[in-house]
Amino acid sequence: MLTITTLKQILAEPTRIVITTHYKPDGDALGSSLAMLLWLKARGHDVKLIVPSDYPSFLMWMPHQEEAIIYTENKDLADGFIQQADLIFCLDFNGLARTQDMQAVLRNSEATKIMIDHHLEPEGFDQFRHWNPESAATAYLVYDFIVNLLDDRASITPEIATCLYTGVMTDTGSFRFQSTTAEIHLVIADLISLGAKNSEIHELVYNSSSENRLKFLGFCLLNRLVVLPEYKTAYFAITKEDLARFNIITGDTEGLVNYALSISGIRLAALIIDRTYQIKLSLRSVGTFPANEICANYFNGGGHRNAAGGHDDLPLEQVVDKFRAVLPLYKEQLLGN
Ligand code: 5GP
Ligand code: MN
Repeated sequence: MLTITTLKQILAEPTRIVITTHYKPDGDALGSSLAMLLWLKARGHDVKLIVPSDYPSFLMWMPHQEEAIIYTENKDLADGFIQQADLIFCLDFNGLARTQDMQAVLRNSEATKIMIDHHLEPEGFDQFRHWNPESAATAYLVYDFIVNLLDDRASITPEIATCLYTGVMTDTGSFRFQSTTAEIHLVIADLISLGAKNSEIHELVYNSSSENRLKFLGFCLLNRLVVLPEYKTAYFAITKEDLARFNIITGDTEGLVNYALSISGIRLAALIIDRTYQIKLSLRSVGTFPANEICANYFNGGGHRNAAGGHDDLPLEQVVDKFRAVLPLYKEQLLGN
């Protein structure tokens, strides 16, 4: 492992740097990556941001997001940058498998890898780690890295503050999850004083739905929501025909699972979607119920205790049956307080 002193020395000279994040980046992944891109560029480095896939349209206003190279669309170019990089910043993921198709080229790269992340059980691909699974968002850790480890608050521009604000806002469900500590509010206050326009950011992220997306939400609530009061669980199972009927694109299903969790008394919510190439699961829970355990034990995934995900190769109906069959095993925890 590198020390922060060595890392500071490396960053004192212009360096070829790649920044990357997880597949289907969310607000925290993209916000952290763009903040790091802007900060490193301002320090004179040659920096490329390579994202493994496209991302939701509600993030397409973010400062400098158009500079992100989308791996699936520019594989050869991106591979070249990764092979030439001296440093690779890996933000908001704990294992290289979370970058999907980029996994092999990242694993083969001899660049020094710097991980900034808040997911449990890091794989150990990195040479420097700024990691805390208790942190509400990776964007908070990026702020902490710049301000406290590198002592460079003065370089946080309004654009960087905007990116970091978006990351913390989206990963805390607008500052309402348990992870939202007093420290988070202090950092958010600082980001506003550094130029993040909080009200505008909320508008851009949360009031930018297409008509299709809203009608899809109505359809799912009426026709696809299943409530199992005996297990304090509710879930949606969405077919590929449903997605096609409403022209659903990346990001349109974001937040849907929270509607199942918003029912009074529900402790576990799931969104099970047929993505054609596989079935994707998103789980959310309240309190101490470990959604990540179900994902890790049964659905090739993991995540945080209250927000986890996974995938399965069985057909949709069988994945739903499997999910329902798992619930009795957790009955005590689901019904307990
Ligand atoms: P989402 O439900 O929004 O896709 O993901 C919620 C959280 O679950 C993510 O922040 C991530 O920690 C975790 N997660 C989602 N999908 C996967 C997966 O396929 N594998 C693992 N290990 N974690 C996942
Ligand atoms: Mn995150």
